[in-house]
Parts: sequence; C-alpha cells; structure tokens
Amino acid sequence: MIVTVKSQCSQREFDKLISWIKSLGLDTHLSQGANQTVIGLIGDTSKVDMELLQSLEMVEAVTRIQEPFKNANRKFHPQDSIIDVSGVKFGGKHFPIIAGPCSVESEAQVIAIAEAVKASGATLLRGGAFKPRTSPYAFQGMGVKGLDILRKAREITGLPIVTEIMSEKFIDDFQDVDLVQIGARNMQNFDLLKAVGRLGKPVLLKRGLANTIQEWLMSAEYIMSEGNDNIILCERGIRTFEPYTRNTLDLSAIPILKEKTHLPVIVDPSHASGLSRLVKPMSLASVGAGADGLIIEVHNNPAKALCDGAQSLRPEQFDDVVKAIDVMLPLVNKER
Ligand code: PEP
Ligand code: MN
Repeated sequence: MIVTVKSQCSQREFDKLISWIKSLGLDTHLSQGANQTVIGLIGDTSKVDMELLQSLEMVEAVTRIQEPFKNANRKFHPQDSIIDVSGVKFGGKHFPIIAGPCSVESEAQVIAIAEAVKASGATLLRGGAFKPRTSPYAFQGMGVKGLDILRKAREITGLPIVTEIMSEKFIDDFQDVDLVQIGARNMQNFDLLKAVGRLGKPVLLKRGLANTIQEWLMSAEYIMSEGNDNIILCERGIRTFEPYTRNTLDLSAIPILKEKTHLPVIVDPSHASGLSRLVKPMSLASVGAGADGLIIEVHNNPAKALCDGAQSLRPEQFDDVVKAIDVMLPLVNKER
C-alpha cells in the first residue's frame, strides 16, 4: 500500500502518521520528492482501513498494491487447491459435475433424479431443502425433512450431497452434509460465513447477485479466516440490464479468478441463464473458459417442478450435456 502525503503537511503530523502506521505492526519506506512525500507500507496491510487513511487531512491519495484477500490469494499459494468432498476432488485436472433438482420435493422425486444423474456421470447430488425465494408465498422448501431425504438418497446412490444453508440456526443439521452451499443471496451474510468457517465442512460459495469478484473473494476470506480452507467458488450469473436471460453469465470471471486465487471455480449455467435450452451452450463455454466443474439443475418433470422448472433439464437432456462435455475436456487438459 502506498500513501501519498500532501506537501503542506507539518513534520509533527507526518511523524504522528508514521508512528500510527508502525503501531499496526507495519514498516514504512519513505520517498521524499520536491512536492510530495510517498510512504510505502510494508507488511500485512490487509487490516489497514484504507478509507480511514484516505479521510485524513494530510493524505493526498492511498493506493493498494497488495490485494486485501490473503488466504485466498494465489500469490501466497501458487498451486491450485484441491478440495476433497467426500472423495470427489475439485481443482487441478478434476472436473466433477453436480446435478439434481432445484428443491427437494419428495423422496421418490429425489431418488429417481439421483439415480438418473448418477447413471449419466454426475458425482454429487444437489437439492435445496431450505429455499431462498423472492416471494414469501412461494414454496420455501421442506426444511430438515428435506435434509433427511437427501441423506436417504446418498445412502441409496452413494452420491455425496450438496445443499444450501440459509440460517446459522440450522448449523447442527448440516454437520453431515458433504458440501454446504452458501447461496447468492447470502454471499455477504458475514455471520453465516463465519459459522460455516467454524463448521469445517467444504463450502460451495456462490457469487452474489450484484457482487464484484473482489467482494466474492473477501467472502471466501471470511470462511478461511475461521480456519476452513475448503472452499469452491461458483459463478452463477450476475444481475445486468439484459432481460432475455435470468442473469448474465460472467464467463470472464473464471480466468480472472484462476489468476487471483488458488480455489477451484465451478459454474452454474442453470441459474446463470434461467433457460434450460441455454444450459448446454453455457456449460461448454464454461469448460472452454477454464471452469473446474459444473452444477446443473435436473428434474424428472420440469413442468411440475416446485421451483426453477424453466431452467431444469430432463435426465436425458442432462445425459446429452455430459456427453458433449466429455468431448471437450481433453482439449482443456481436464478429466471427469
Ligand atoms: C440454488 O442453487 O438453488 C440457488 C438458489 O442458487 P443461487 O443462490 O445461485 O440463486
Ligand atoms: Mn434453483
């Protein structure tokens, strides 16, 4: 971090500023020019309040040269992190596919879908028991009963389960969930992030509806700062002005994240587009952009789905998508 000090700053004020910086455990490097003085802050500047520094009368400008996310930063961890979710690996050469319904509706529905997606090559089962709905009158999910159904499906198929936590209140019910999902709407629910950090289970951290990549990485940082490094990021589209699709899939986030962080990055083409016919092209585009996996909504009767039917694939459509992905994977040096 670099602090540029105004030329009219008195020596007393300047000395005070230097001793305050040093009190934060940082070293300083001074560069005295004719019109201004530049202070280089050396050490871990992630805890420095940039806005506070900027607001000081004597300060002309503050420039951060080191990113505020430390644990997630690739500079401090050059190799890809490999996240193991009950035996299924994410990161590096691995390309797992998560599939299942938007929400858990019944035992028969989940088991039928789980068996179908497993036969096509999915290695994890998704399904929401707690659903974040825009309307309080829409189906809110089956809650803890839905978690029991997912466990049953895991027992029958052997597929590890991925499901969303919406409240810290239910943290104990997620102790045996293989991959705990933080949904887009909770990406900046900091108390929930800290709670899943302490829970210690692998976390699927979705990007917020209108959040920058850096804000997203700072949310990962919240989980990591509690000692949990098992995070998989999920790009699920962001809110833009375009109404033809539910969201806009930010494909460029994938290579940017691969530069900035060592954490695996997967894509959710279902929520990103909102349209089942876009799931295949967006899945293939994600493979091409360097994604580390996919999470796809599949329903055995999309027309009757209680949630997100329009973006859900039928099992045979999912099968076709997996076959197309398999053609592409060798081109990007990945394998399922
Ligand atoms: C979901 O995965 O069903 C979901 C609600 O996703 P998102 O949080 O990305 O909207
Ligand atoms: Mn959904």
